[in-house]
Amino acid sequence: MKDKRWPEKILLASPRGFCAGVDRAIDVLNRVQAADGGEQIYSYHQIVHNTHVVRKFEEQGVKFVEDISMVPQGKTVVFSAHGVSPEIRESTQKRELNWIDATCPLVEKPHREVKKFAEQGYTILYIGHAGHDETIGTMGEAPNHMILIETVEDAKNVQVPNPEKLALTTQTTLSLDDTAEIVAVLKARFPHLTAPRSEDVCYATQNRQDAVKAMVRKGAEAVVIVGSSNSSNAHRMREVAEQALKMKFLGETKKGSAYLIDDVQELDGKESFFSHLNVVGLSSAASVSEEKFQEVVNWFKERGSRIVEEEVVADESKIHFASPQRLRLLEQQSF
Ligand code: SF4
Repeated sequence: MKDKRWPEKILLASPRGFCAGVDRAIDVLNRVQAADGGEQIYSYHQIVHNTHVVRKFEEQGVKFVEDISMVPQGKTVVFSAHGVSPEIRESTQKRELNWIDATCPLVEKPHREVKKFAEQGYTILYIGHAGHDETIGTMGEAPNHMILIETVEDAKNVQVPNPEKLALTTQTTLSLDDTAEIVAVLKARFPHLTAPRSEDVCYATQNRQDAVKAMVRKGAEAVVIVGSSNSSNAHRMREVAEQALKMKFLGETKKGSAYLIDDVQELDGKESFFSHLNVVGLSSAASVSEEKFQEVVNWFKERGSRIVEEEVVADESKIHFASPQRLRLLEQQSF
């Protein structure tokens, strides 16, 4: 029976969930497994940052490694969607591994920019998060030319050898608002800074953050983001939701929370977080399947939410990335 003290309405963000880069990486790993006919397949780093996707592949027999030396000589390894540094590529060649690269094409763009600027003698400021696979991979392109900027404070304090030869690039999954603030500080301090026309934050990150903000504008009083704790994309979506909610419900202490959950099980016992609200917004990060998202939708419906509306801010249905050429060759060889 419907609980009278339960949100009447849930809003679903659109787009949400798998982006074209994640779709492609999952497809690559599935196809490598199929083509390699029962051979042990390795993935260098989590193929995408989602515990459920990784677990499913582990059940299918894929081994995930954090150190490339753990892949036995001559075996097949897939590079994750987050990209790898030249050092890893070199070590892969040396050990004669059969590699297939599932790096998202949008992550490759900052790699190319970094290489180009380093060759021209520039120092490159990289806005990103320390320790993230993508940051390690991109900064590994020119470690002696790069400086990591994580915060506005870093931007205020960074010292560079030659302010006239300075370039900027960014991680693809940042918060657009935070990045804009950091870029503004850098541009004010270094007028000669060469920056890409738009930051390297990708379309999927931008659309998912815009869709979360649209739900808050439309009336969501709390937001639930489905995504794993090691997903940068998921954390930024939660932060964007929290900031939008704070601005809207300034001073209203019972409204305005944004939650990040890995799956529906994390909601059990948390009914009191939502029971006083009228509208809750739901979305999922770029590495989360629609199946996992719908489990959360059902959790709200089972408890009495009756009206389900989609907040569509962009159509991504036509965005697809071609599969890597080496995968197509591997498939031809296996038939
Ligand atoms: S979030 Fe963006 S950069 Fe990352 S895999 Fe998806 S499309 Fe590529």
